[in-house]
Amino acid sequence: MRGRLFVFSGPSGAGKNTVLKEAIPLLGNISYSISCTTRKPRPEDVDGETYFFLDEAVFKDMISKGMFLEYAKVHGNLYGTRRDMVESELEKGRDVLLEIDVQGAIQIKESMKEAITIFIMPSSAEELERRLRKRGTESEEEIQLRIKNAQKEQLFADKYDHIVINNNLNDTVEKFVDIVKGYRGESK
Ligand code: 5GP
Repeated sequence: MRGRLFVFSGPSGAGKNTVLKEAIPLLGNISYSISCTTRKPRPEDVDGETYFFLDEAVFKDMISKGMFLEYAKVHGNLYGTRRDMVESELEKGRDVLLEIDVQGAIQIKESMKEAITIFIMPSSAEELERRLRKRGTESEEEIQLRIKNAQKEQLFADKYDHIVINNNLNDTVEKFVDIVKGYRGESK
């Protein structure tokens, strides 16, 4: 049987990566899709692990060759999901998890209606700003851009199949795992 495609979105600072780090080992048979980006690597980034870091020219060439399942400009940089990687995992019967922005999620829903979309909401605007500042990886200008984009992204939440509010890490991980297991027909 073909795998299922899960799409996970939420504003920068909502805690997406922390949730996925905890949830993926609990799920098994799920591949995290490593995106391509033109963003500059942060100190903690590892090329080929967190992202494939590409020059804009290479990225644009891949767009023209139809190599992306979806792509979008997010916070001023290009991000995209490689079609071949996702397809080969789904073909093998493995579920695939994309962590992408709302523009990308909308593109996926248009081309693959069966994809399951999950949106994570920060508990409050203040909490989101606190998390962004605590991370300490962005300049003040980038933080302001991410806060502005978070407000825009949250307007799209009701287009998702599921919304999870991140009040507490353990509860959010549990809810996320339950959603995925629910589609698999696995009991808790
Ligand atoms: P960051 O640069 O903080 O890792 O990610 C910034 C934003 O880019 C996040 O909202 C993340 O969901 C989004 N993003 C990461 N990879 C992709 C992708 O392949 N496609 C799209 N559309 N967005 C992505």
